[in-house]
Amino acid sequence: RKRGGKNGVQLFDSNMVDIARTRLEIEQSIEQGLRSGWFTAHLQPIVSLADGRVAGFEALMRLDHPERGLLPPAEIIGVAEENGSIGKIGDCILSKSIASLAAISKLDGLADSYLAVNFSPLQFEPALPARLAALLLENGVTPARIVVEITEAVLMLDNPLVREVLDALSDLGCRIALDDFGTGYSSLSYLNRFPVDIVKVDQSFTRSLSSDQPDVRRKSRMLVEGIRTISHQMGCAVVAEGVETAEQWDILQAMDIEFAQGYLLSRPLPLEALLEKLDDFAPS
Ligand code: C2E
Ligand code: CA
Ligand code: CA
Ligand code: CA
Repeated sequence: RKRGGKNGVQLFDSNMVDIARTRLEIEQSIEQGLRSGWFTAHLQPIVSLADGRVAGFEALMRLDHPERGLLPPAEIIGVAEENGSIGKIGDCILSKSIASLAAISKLDGLADSYLAVNFSPLQFEPALPARLAALLLENGVTPARIVVEITEAVLMLDNPLVREVLDALSDLGCRIALDDFGTGYSSLSYLNRFPVDIVKVDQSFTRSLSSDQPDVRRKSRMLVEGIRTISHQMGCAVVAEGVETAEQWDILQAMDIEFAQGYLLSRPLPLEALLEKLDDFAPS
């Protein structure tokens, strides 16, 4: 299909046709997914490094497509932000994951566990706090058990509306977590300017803690220790993301970091599988 020889002009790039087709497919999947209830929230435990107890869960969006299988957020979110469907998807994830938290709460030792939900900047609209409050009331979940996860991309907009909504969520009693911490341009200044309660150390740092290059290990240890110290001084708890090995767990534990999240503990799971797995974590 590609035309043009050595010096010829390429009339069109078949790759672009593929991209357009894929995008259209994703848009159709989103639209149909919203109509047919294909969107679900998988939940991944967040565990206390001090005693191994499950402290909370992060909701991670999946589109459960009957033919294409489970589509990860990376395929969906960009398109959903562009075509404006992210709001509806976000509401759907919010209501499903809050209902899941209510179910999890019935298990031993998990009555106070928290739910962390990811938000795109485009979901911050004035009506969000009231809608969230209503959902929580309906499900018998207190606002203190909700963590709103945002990335710098949200804060970078420096939009008065974003601040207003964040303040309202914070006033409602929800906590705010700054996701992927350390990967952006000016993470530190956001700790100062916004009501942040939790800092999530990006998984790239966790990975380099156990690098086989001594130099990388040493430097990333200093970085993570620096993030921890600053976070604690600002009154924030720290979650290390992407913990995959026992070695990483041990290093983070020795650093006095509060929480770990990653495949070592559990992959993100659908509610039923998670409820099953949670006995394995149950304090004996
Ligand atoms: P994130 O918020 O940083 O979420 C953590 C990602 O790391 C998740 O990918 C999770 O499955 C993955 N992960 C967890 N533990 C490990 C580990 O030990 N090793 C490795 N390699 N990966 C691990 P996922 O589910 O594909 O989500 C990707 C991103 O999509 C999320 O990154 C978040 O930014 C976004 N996202 C997910 N759900 C939602 C949602 O409901 N709304 C919005 N707006 N964004 C979402
Ligand atoms: Ca997150
Ligand atoms: Ca993250
Ligand atoms: Ca089990």
